[in-house]
Amino acid sequence: MRYEMMLPHQIRRAIAENWPVVLPLGVLEYHGEHMAVGMDTIAVIDALGDIEREVDLVMLPPFYYGAASYAVEPPEGNGSLQVNADQLKPFAQEMFMGLLRIGFRNIHFFIHHQSENFAAGMPTDLAFKLAARQAIFAFLEAQRGEGWWGAKSMADYYEQQSTGGDPFNWIKAHPLMPSSLMEGYPFDHAGQGETSLLMALLPEGVDISRISEDQWYSRSAREATLELGLQGRDRILAHLRKALGVERANAQGARN
Ligand SMILES: [Zn+2]
Repeated sequence: MRYEMMLPHQIRRAIAENWPVVLPLGVLEYHGEHMAVGMDTIAVIDALGDIEREVDLVMLPPFYYGAASYAVEPPEGNGSLQVNADQLKPFAQEMFMGLLRIGFRNIHFFIHHQSENFAAGMPTDLAFKLAARQAIFAFLEAQRGEGWWGAKSMADYYEQQSTGGDPFNWIKAHPLMPSSLMEGYPFDHAGQGETSLLMALLPEGVDISRISEDQWYSRSAREATLELGLQGRDRILAHLRKALGVERANAQGARN
């Protein structure tokens, strides 16, 4: 369900049944002359939207204003919109704290922008990861007081880590395309991989006739095909289901 459309009784049900709560996280960034600037965020929104139609899941309104950087092109007349990660962190921390206050304990954010080396991280995801950790610490201290981790009731902490009961599992970060997926699908910026993917997800965001020969990173877009994009989409959907612990079999009842 779309969070902004939920009634309080539906929110309470989602909390009681521990539905995944997902945030599509991204940027607005120049993607060559032939692609929409929202590509990185649109890909996440669209893929998560497919999962949202299959299973019980809360989808938060997307956040487009990440740290795009001006590494690809300067913004003037090109459209990249950079917000420094130092400014994102306090915002994200407040947002995560708010979600924990509402009662959600199964929160996930997904990002595609600059996610080719996700374990090391890049400014947008690092800001949101740190914010998530700090929100959890602040929430626990406010709820349980200092010394909460050392309390007797926490003696099973290390066992809980593997089963998901560990509070630091309450908010998880994921790339849209993990490294295992990249082995079989081209990861690029405005090249064959992204262009094919957008052709499959949102064709009106691509204009093949505008592919520029001048830009090294978008030259491979000439080899983009809808077929490749559909393959990428299917692999992404399989990854999302696994990351969220949901399977297609749960689809029954999602709309009740
Ligand atoms: Zn991109």
